[in-house]
Amino acid sequence: MFHATLTQAPRSTKHLEAPLRLSLPRRALILGAFAASILSTTSPALAQGKAAARPAAAQATDPEFARLVKEWTTKPEFISPLVDFLPLKKGIPTPKDALGRYVGTPNRLTSTTEAYAYYRALEKASPRVKIVVMGRTDEGREQLIVNISNEQTIKDLELYRGYLGQLADPRKTTPEAVKDVIARAKPIYYVSGGQHSPETGPPEMLMELAYRLVADDSPMYQGIRDNVIVAINPVVEPDGRDRIVDWYHRHKIEETDERTNSGGPPYWGKYVFHDNNRDINYSQVTMKNVLDWYLQWHPPIMHDLHESVPFMYTFSGQAPQNPTLDPILYSELPWFSNYEKSQMAKFGMPGVWDFAFVDMWSPGYLAFMSSNHNGMIRMYETFGNGGATTMKRTVVPPDGGAGQTSREWYRPWPPYKEVVWSMRNNTNYMETGVLSALELTSKFPKVILENFYKKSFNSIESGKKDAPFGYVIPAGQKDQTRVAQLINLLRLQGIEVGKATAEVSVKEGKFPAGSYVIKRDQPYGRLAKILLEKQTFPDANLRTYDDTGWTMGLMAHAEVKEIADTAILQAAVEPVTTIKLHGSQSGAGRYVAALNFGDNNMASLRFKFPKMKTLANEKAAKIGDANVPAGSLWFDTQGGDAAAVRAAVESLGLTAIATDALPSVATHEVDLPRLAVYSTWGNTQEVGWVRHAFDYYGIPFTLIYKEQVKAGNLAKDYDVILIPNQGRTAKGLVFDIPNRGKALPYKKDPKFPTLGGYGESDDITGGMGLEGATELDKYVNGGGSLVTLAAASYFPPEFGLAKLIDARAPSAAFYAPGPIIEAEIQAPEHPIFYGYGNKTISVRYGNGPLLSVPEIMKDRILMKYPGQDRSVLSGLFRGANEIRDRPAIVDLPQGKGQIVLFAGNPCYRWQNHGEFGMLFNTILHWNDLLASKAPIAAEKPAANQ
Ligand SMILES: [Zn+2]
Repeated sequence: MFHATLTQAPRSTKHLEAPLRLSLPRRALILGAFAASILSTTSPALAQGKAAARPAAAQATDPEFARLVKEWTTKPEFISPLVDFLPLKKGIPTPKDALGRYVGTPNRLTSTTEAYAYYRALEKASPRVKIVVMGRTDEGREQLIVNISNEQTIKDLELYRGYLGQLADPRKTTPEAVKDVIARAKPIYYVSGGQHSPETGPPEMLMELAYRLVADDSPMYQGIRDNVIVAINPVVEPDGRDRIVDWYHRHKIEETDERTNSGGPPYWGKYVFHDNNRDINYSQVTMKNVLDWYLQWHPPIMHDLHESVPFMYTFSGQAPQNPTLDPILYSELPWFSNYEKSQMAKFGMPGVWDFAFVDMWSPGYLAFMSSNHNGMIRMYETFGNGGATTMKRTVVPPDGGAGQTSREWYRPWPPYKEVVWSMRNNTNYMETGVLSALELTSKFPKVILENFYKKSFNSIESGKKDAPFGYVIPAGQKDQTRVAQLINLLRLQGIEVGKATAEVSVKEGKFPAGSYVIKRDQPYGRLAKILLEKQTFPDANLRTYDDTGWTMGLMAHAEVKEIADTAILQAAVEPVTTIKLHGSQSGAGRYVAALNFGDNNMASLRFKFPKMKTLANEKAAKIGDANVPAGSLWFDTQGGDAAAVRAAVESLGLTAIATDALPSVATHEVDLPRLAVYSTWGNTQEVGWVRHAFDYYGIPFTLIYKEQVKAGNLAKDYDVILIPNQGRTAKGLVFDIPNRGKALPYKKDPKFPTLGGYGESDDITGGMGLEGATELDKYVNGGGSLVTLAAASYFPPEFGLAKLIDARAPSAAFYAPGPIIEAEIQAPEHPIFYGYGNKTISVRYGNGPLLSVPEIMKDRILMKYPGQDRSVLSGLFRGANEIRDRPAIVDLPQGKGQIVLFAGNPCYRWQNHGEFGMLFNTILHWNDLLASKAPIAAEKPAANQ
């Protein structure tokens, strides 16, 4: 009602007065007229708001915008005086000028191409805009940063980039000189949308935000432009954006009931979906491009816009917090979230809260790169409908309770229990929030810059004062490729690594020249510690949002020594840029034996020469005096391209010996399987991580879905079928996406060109069903090899493919959010463990089933978990007793075929590179796994362990 009256105000007056006049009645509504009158005369914030919104000269506004936005906003309180009007500026295109519609138009989403066209039009029209291309995605789309500031700043953008570079590395200046740098510098405030493709609102909102930042001449915006460089990443994952836009317009536009939500498309980008925000090692090209940009521009603030909870959650960094990060950071976070909460409450917007959602433990979220590099991560979750359709939403959880609608100290004005919600509501909330945050930044730009500098300075100082003072990766580790990979991942993040030019002598021992040294007295010394140390979770009673362990050395099976001796800071080193592998081949002869030290590139080498006859020695052997570990690959180059083998050995960083004699020990032929990777349509992400690894290492495979499995006769085409971790249960794997009464095709369509990418289906619902399970059973019994990882390992026992094995879920008290634990190899000579020298290895706990095998089959347990708290190497594990002596890998003869069950996940998010070899060996030696063992004839029920 108040809203209606006010929007009839004359255009220019409305703009002039809007913030004050709109917010007053709202406050009056909530607090009563008395409180409102107090506010109107005495509230400094409100007075400031009034002054800030008053333009130097009256600026025209768009009446049509005001009318439609009011119509699309489902309740008057879901909009703010910052966004209920649109100023007009001659020569500056509005989003509507480019798109033909306002931001928040129901039932219409904007593609990357359309959005980029708008930003480019804005750049063309205004000297306040400069676009930088960050790179290109897997599918070739551009990734942009749209910089917005005042004309002078945009003109001198390089200068400002330089200032931030100086603040990011306090060694480049003196504490005295830095005052001058801070006086001249301006913070970059990075804000991004569209990392998670079905969170569709932010890429829409950001266009309007960009427009306002360019076009609004009122003091608040002038203040932002004069004091801040706003760097908008319009779409973090452009491939996924375009796919979801096509999917929405193809399938979801008619959906008006949240209960019949058909979900998103099977793919976003090429490999992963939600995990693009868990890509701690920046394996995905879209995420790496953001990191590369970050390290060139050093934005002190990175703000990701997500959608999930109502109505708006603003991240404030609740416990558990990583204690290595700066205390300044932990106070900056609620500084911003509290300002947003109070501003938005003042504007009359309910349901804005902070605190109880995401913590500060895992450093693997994309925007966390800023906190990792002494800046500040910021994040919102607003309420999205997974499209642009207005619909009724039930906010309370279905199983009862108030969920996020309860009133709490951090949520003084909770979201409603039920609400009709629209894209425009969502736009209003996040845009108001971001504008408030930008306003705050513009009022305190120097504080932001000082903090950024001080956090960077403290990181260096902490490395001089607080142990550990460094890390050494000793020279002489047999597999140099995993060492190189680990170091290159550190370098990717800007961490300085040195190579010792002389022996390093510290109290932990002596390390030879050539060892790698990471000193902690560097700007990113804290990040080095966070990545390399053992994660000690601060409170076992807390839960966390994601993984609790990621220790790189344990994940890579590379030796990393923590050094608590300050002498490490004086070690003589030369800087390492990136490590380029140089393998070597010695000797001469027909056979080239590539020595197996557990290098993942062994698989690459084998697959590079698929037609070349290749043997593996089943036990350690000798060539002259040289030791040849079991599982080394002997390429018979007769009639083949010996020079190409040598070149591959060298480029892959391997060690090989050429010889004319075959080993005296037993060998088997390493013939390559026709490999299929099975994917459900509903959960392609974990499959995506495996696909990414296979593509990286050059392991060819066919991606199959329910369509191929149900068609049967699988043995005709595939020797090995791998079912990566996917779904949570066997039932989920088999029945997958529920059918809601209509087919859901994912097919090539000229109108929706991104659909049908990576696989096609007339109907992605229904899963393989019992029919598919039966075909897989036939396949195995007929001689096929089935390999299952983590949660997929529930499937063979529960659907009767592996009747002798029992799979159970752990108890409700069990909680293992990604700890790294010990595993014990039971059959060290088994081909799966070629290249693994130790009996006890570190593995990431994969949350697969608790397996039991009957006594008679105990020799099929290839690896087990010793369990108990003492086997936990990093991160949090509540209930480690439950996995005590449970099988970790079982290879089971079944009919004429076999099933290999991994309870864990040996190919997890491009992290546990030390485990990859077990999966690769399973594939390389697929038809030699059972060779040394007698088949089990008797079927006995599983004995509980
Ligand atoms: Zn998200």
